[in-house]
Amino acid sequence: MSSIAPRRTGEDDGLLDILGMTSTEFVEASHALGVPRGRAMQSYRTAFREGRADGNWFRIDDHSMNRREVEGETTKFTLDIGEDHETESVVIPMRGRRQVTTRTLCVSSQVGCAMGCGFCETAQMGLIRNLSAGQIVSQWWAATHRLEATIKNIVFMGMGEPMDNLDEVLQAIRILTDHNGPGVACANITISTVGRVDGIRRVADFVKQPGFHRMNLAISVNAPNDRIRSELMPINRAADMAMLKEALLDYPLRSSSAFCVEYVLIPGVNDADEHCDELCRWLEPIRCSLNVIPYNPRRDSPWPAPEEDDVERFIVRAIENGQFVKRRGTKGRDVMAACGQLGNPAIRRRRRVEPPAVVQPEINGTPIRREEP
Ligand code: SF4
Repeated sequence: MSSIAPRRTGEDDGLLDILGMTSTEFVEASHALGVPRGRAMQSYRTAFREGRADGNWFRIDDHSMNRREVEGETTKFTLDIGEDHETESVVIPMRGRRQVTTRTLCVSSQVGCAMGCGFCETAQMGLIRNLSAGQIVSQWWAATHRLEATIKNIVFMGMGEPMDNLDEVLQAIRILTDHNGPGVACANITISTVGRVDGIRRVADFVKQPGFHRMNLAISVNAPNDRIRSELMPINRAADMAMLKEALLDYPLRSSSAFCVEYVLIPGVNDADEHCDELCRWLEPIRCSLNVIPYNPRRDSPWPAPEEDDVERFIVRAIENGQFVKRRGTKGRDVMAACGQLGNPAIRRRRRVEPPAVVQPEINGTPIRREEP
């Protein structure tokens, strides 16, 4: 568990940052300031459930919504977190059993990303900054209390590599699943990683803790072999597919559960029949659902979106190989809200003029080279 200490992040106003704290942390920190525990707990519930502050010793970081773009039932929104930086989040409708619609919130864990995946818009920004747990939770708060969306699922698939900011991501998950706060079921939360092996091992320890064993893990694989994966994803040069497979096979997966393996299907790069067969062989020992994501072209993309026939062909072939397959929809493509399309080009341009401190991506001391856009 994290240590119980007041988290006064961001502004130096001496107020508790309620969105960055679990109820236990908030109650104890409030008590240290002289607030009775019962009163503090009541304020915590009011802040998360009703979206308002009923005390003056804490603050709700209600970041202004810079942009809100809607395509059909998909809404992309950005929150201003200061210094000309913003988070990007997407609320996506999901049609479930009996045509019941639920809402999934895709959150960012960083502004930009250091991982440099060739197919991803966010990668073009480089890493600008990590988000605090409170800034991650504020995306849920804005979706719930500003957009009035009832969020059932949360996926860490927005801007950033969650494993690069894992302390804050795990703290955000403790808050999001807090029964006195958002109360999101852990089984409805998914961390998606580019395949950072050290991060996967840390998450493996996290899910062994009581209450977190049902959390889901998605892995972005996107290639059938090391040659193609290293071209698309620089991380593979530091931790190859054999190391990734080993970490997944060591992971304490529940007997009724499976990994979600994401595969962005890019025309002429990873969509041939032999790619499909090679991928399925690699996946054979891994209990997983293969999530095929038709490539959503980033700005200045060297590749087009795949043809529908090619997506179908790849999926059918994977099924014939005995692989369980799902297809990811392309909701939000027109407003750059679909998978791999998040990232504000204006922030990216500013970064080029006056680069902020960029963390050199590395794994176990091995630098990952990022191709400059
Ligand atoms: S796909 Fe994910 S990990 Fe890769 S650059 Fe984009 S945000 Fe980062």
